Amino acid sequence: MADDKTVAVLGTGIMGAAMARNLLSAGMEVRAWNRSREKAEPLAQEGAEVADNPADAAKGADFILTMLSDADAVEEAVGGDVLSALAEDSVWLQMSTVGEGGNERLLRLASDHDVAYVDAPVLGTRQPAEQGQLIVLASGPKEVRERSEQVFGAFAGKTVWLGEAGEGSRLKLVVNNWIVGLLGVLAETVAFAEATGVDPAKFLETIEGGPLGLPYAQMKGSMMVEDDFPTSFSANLARKDAALVLDSARDHDLHLRIAEAVTARFDEAIQAGHGEEDMAAVYKAARPDRG
Ligand code: NAP
Repeated sequence: MADDKTVAVLGTGIMGAAMARNLLSAGMEVRAWNRSREKAEPLAQEGAEVADNPADAAKGADFILTMLSDADAVEEAVGGDVLSALAEDSVWLQMSTVGEGGNERLLRLASDHDVAYVDAPVLGTRQPAEQGQLIVLASGPKEVRERSEQVFGAFAGKTVWLGEAGEGSRLKLVVNNWIVGLLGVLAETVAFAEATGVDPAKFLETIEGGPLGLPYAQMKGSMMVEDDFPTSFSANLARKDAALVLDSARDHDLHLRIAEAVTARFDEAIQAGHGEEDMAAVYKAARPDRG
């Protein structure tokens, strides 16, 4: 039975809070912890126990789910006695995007504490997280897969099982390279349309519905056209993901010039003060006169 399980959710930002809400709706016990407590507090009204620190959240829990910004934040949160506080036979579902090196560090930490570790980054953003439609890229020991799906089932439309822990993070990086490239060229295309006197909304309308008209281009392109960037995924975290792609490519002797160029665009947008806005604000770097 999934509904008598306790899940310690560390990190209730955009994604973690939505995932915790879906776990509560599925009838699970949730102990939520967030560094800035005020972001976890609203979950108490929906039945979560809000913990003062990660060890209190983890005490006797069947699962620990980490959804923090990066590997350093996860390591900091889960260090000390946190993993030892879990119930026997518990599982660590590591769902933050941490890249290859980050995943290896966290896997070592789990194995030092004898805790089963599932590397499970996600595809999808704020809305799919709220609607229980995330795609989980899961990898880890076969014996804990069924149990892990009790948790994933609460917020995922689909779980793709890969092989050993690490394969999920590698596939996530591949998808992220695709996203970073798309976003960079979309920002420059909208800027190019404007510079040449073409209405960028006409560009989006023209490609819509055909093979070139990705829903993603419509979603992020509309933000650029409207010059309004409500955050589903921050530019700061997208820049972090682009850097993880570049680190990994470098480790595998590959030079990704497009990812490098878009990372530089993210840097410009962040320096201009758009880091907490949606990643589509990379457009601001392509149109410095607007931004
Ligand atoms: P977010 O809203 O910015 O939340 C980040 C979380 O990390 C917050 O709980 C924040 O705590 C915490 N944090 C940051 N540094 C910390 C530290 N040093 N110690 C402890 N906690 C720390 O981010 P998000 O969008 O939910 O993303 C979470 C993870 O999911 C990231 O790895 C991201 O790449 C990945 N992801 C996001 C999306 C998306 O579309 N949003 C999609 C797929 C994957 P405070 O509240 O105290 O700052």
